[in-house]
Amino acid sequence: MHSIWEQRSFLARPDLAVVGAGLVGLFAALHAKRLHPGWKVVVLERGPHPSGASVRNAGFACFGSPSELLADIADEGEAAALHRVEERWKGLLELRAELGDAAIGFEPSGGHEIYGVNDPLYNQVAEGFDRLNVLLADITGPGTYRWLPGGPARFGLARTAHLVRTDLEGPVDTGRLMRSLLAKVSEAGVDVHFGQDVQRMENAAEGVDLVLADGTALRTRQVLVATNGYVRQLLPDLDIEPARGQVLLTEPVPGLKLKGTFHAHEGYFYFRDYEGRVLLGGGRHLDRAVERTWKDGNTPLIMEALENLLRATILPDQNVAIAHHWSGVMGFRTQGKEPLVARVAPNVVVAAGLSGMGVAIGVRVARRAVRLIRE
Ligand SMILES: Cc1cc2nc3c(=O)[nH]c(=O)nc-3n(C[C@H](O)[C@H](O)[C@H](O)COP(=O)(O)OP(=O)(O)OC[C@H]3O[C@@H](n4cnc5c(N)ncnc54)[C@H](O)[C@@H]3O)c2cc1C
Repeated sequence: MHSIWEQRSFLARPDLAVVGAGLVGLFAALHAKRLHPGWKVVVLERGPHPSGASVRNAGFACFGSPSELLADIADEGEAAALHRVEERWKGLLELRAELGDAAIGFEPSGGHEIYGVNDPLYNQVAEGFDRLNVLLADITGPGTYRWLPGGPARFGLARTAHLVRTDLEGPVDTGRLMRSLLAKVSEAGVDVHFGQDVQRMENAAEGVDLVLADGTALRTRQVLVATNGYVRQLLPDLDIEPARGQVLLTEPVPGLKLKGTFHAHEGYFYFRDYEGRVLLGGGRHLDRAVERTWKDGNTPLIMEALENLLRATILPDQNVAIAHHWSGVMGFRTQGKEPLVARVAPNVVVAAGLSGMGVAIGVRVARRAVRLIRE
């Protein structure tokens, strides 16, 4: 026998239930509440706090590296590749405007791509470099990328012959970003419930029943599934695969020269400074089948590859210990690089498959998904 207060304030059927409290789920809840202030919007998250890639990533606020963008242009043509860059760039500006640079710990210390000695990638990038800057001028402004001849020495990098820089990128503090987003979402009147593991969705009269791991069910008018790399656990037919990313963090490095975000080996490795330490991740391409998983964990093969890069290139001749390591799960489309934003059932919309770019595109992917929700 619930009171009228319980019924009205806590137990009323939501107009929209968002599954997953990552960047996409939280921004979607925020957009939905702004668009429909009278709606009851809830977020259901199975972890004790946001627990997916949005709290496990490397915190690069980036829109791509020259080698990636040139490869995309070659594969897909200028229009499609540049549209994606534009989405990333606008997304980063929106994210920063929405939450504020101080709150998300954004540092405008630059984004970089490095090339080794006799690196064929360097020749490809050098060849397309001027054209790429011309193409990007309408999106990010003139001179987006520039060569930094003394760059490798300036950042203390060994085995690095060339380095490209853009001033427009930089690292964020992922934890602070997510905390400030969560605060904003709660302030907007969205209820975020943790420890709610949605096991399945069932069609119900005028809505959907979300069946939870404890056997209870929540009836909601509409659902937005924002579970990214885990999305097949609820919707097994979707063309989105999990992809684990492994990360390590060193102990503080005396006199660390590294500053900003860095891509290496076609973006398969990435590293940055964080509070005087090196944060380094990637290497998934070395063991694709094993890394196609939604299990957390670090493997010797990839940890060794990360450590080799650390000791040979990033911190040569410095015997700094590894302080910490972790992993996170991304979602990749099996075809192409665009996230999936679609209605998959009368009352169910999905926004998932953000690959390694969710910091940049999360806010706009969420908005697109909310536009698909029925009035
Ligand atoms: C190691 C690593 C490094 C990365 N580095 C960068 C970077 O530098 N820059 C960048 O832009 N992007 C990066 N990314 C990618 C970026 O983090 C993701 O694209 C983004 O966080 C995806 O956000 P999301 O909200 O879609 O998913 P997630 O953050 O994964 O959120 C999904 C949420 O759903 C919850 N959930 C799942 N299933 C259920 C269920 N059944 N019931 C209830 N809740 C459920 C999960 O617990 C999780 O909290 C990186 C990712 C990883 C793993």
